[in-house]
Amino acid sequence: MGQHRAYNFNAGPAALPLAVLERAQAEFVDFQEQGMSIMEMSHRGAVYEQVHNEAKQLLKELLGIPSGYDVLFLQGGASTQFAMVPMNLLSEGKVGAYVHTGSWAEKAIKEAELIGATRVIASTEADRFMRVPAPEEVVVPEDAAYVHITSNETIGGTQYSAYPDSGSVPLIADMSSDILCRPVDVSKFGMIYAGAQKNLGPSGVTVVIAKEDLIASSPKTIPSMLRYSTHYKNNSLYNTPPSFSIYMVNLVLQWLKERGGLEQVERDNLAKAELLYSTIDASGDFYRGCAERGSRSLMNVTFRLADEELEKAFIKQAGEAGFVGLKGHRSVGGLRASIYNAVPYESCEALAQFMKHFQQRNG
Ligand SMILES: *Cc1c(COP(=O)(O)O)cnc(C)c1O
Repeated sequence: MGQHRAYNFNAGPAALPLAVLERAQAEFVDFQEQGMSIMEMSHRGAVYEQVHNEAKQLLKELLGIPSGYDVLFLQGGASTQFAMVPMNLLSEGKVGAYVHTGSWAEKAIKEAELIGATRVIASTEADRFMRVPAPEEVVVPEDAAYVHITSNETIGGTQYSAYPDSGSVPLIADMSSDILCRPVDVSKFGMIYAGAQKNLGPSGVTVVIAKEDLIASSPKTIPSMLRYSTHYKNNSLYNTPPSFSIYMVNLVLQWLKERGGLEQVERDNLAKAELLYSTIDASGDFYRGCAERGSRSLMNVTFRLADEELEKAFIKQAGEAGFVGLKGHRSVGGLRASIYNAVPYESCEALAQFMKHFQQRNG
């Protein structure tokens, strides 16, 4: 059977590196001569624990996570973090301060409102979320328990190039769709969280990187599983972790390290994004980029055509040519190419070619 790999531009779950899939396939049935797969063994055994700790260590190494921080592997997706953040960190008399940049920020805000006092301290709604705020637009109130941002809005296709300065108030970022796409100064953040299924691995695990003083103790009024302290004190092994997902994350992290680390990953991501954005910008007005130039995402390239009819034709013909996942999110329409770390330059080249040909036929 020939191996067919699509030009995969899915938004999430998304493309994984072929080398990682092949490695997982090779060790799938008999992991390290244990006579069983990694999924079939105890999470309390030395073999699994080594994988678990290696994934943690690699993440610390790749991101240059300073001492005083820890890494947690949780379940429930980034969506559960929308609730866990205020449950654990929003104390009486304080407000959760949120920067509203689109669909994902809004979900985080809605959950926080269920838990405690929240305030939107900056919003780009007036610009239909086609940009992120400049650092100086974000003014941190004195009673803020934390400032929450969404580093990359996966649906709108916007991303910060400079993060707001939250001073002594912890800055918390939902980095689900751009973690590890470039180097980041972790010391600027109190917490970073990300569902794995875009840039880290398969679905099923959520990575939380946090300052230890934020997660070492949690209110006793919330259920054990929802306390950061429970997972912090137990090396994310309080209950059964999503062991296969963590194993896959470990393979992705090894692959990133072998590629040369995050500086190289950023160079590659810039090349891919520039190729697609320049194709859009050189098309006259045939393709129209959605995000404002200064806020364009390296990960999710969103664009539109003159009308929905033409967009439908684009998606249909792209599908016939082997391109997958180019339809924009149902809430905004249009087109979106998600070009996460694992999407090869060649896929972007093929898409740019297709876009030019489609324009020639329909322009
Ligand atoms: C996909 C996504 C989420 C949701 O993640 P789940 O793991 O499905 O809960 C949250 N935030 C951002 C920015 C996302 O891209």
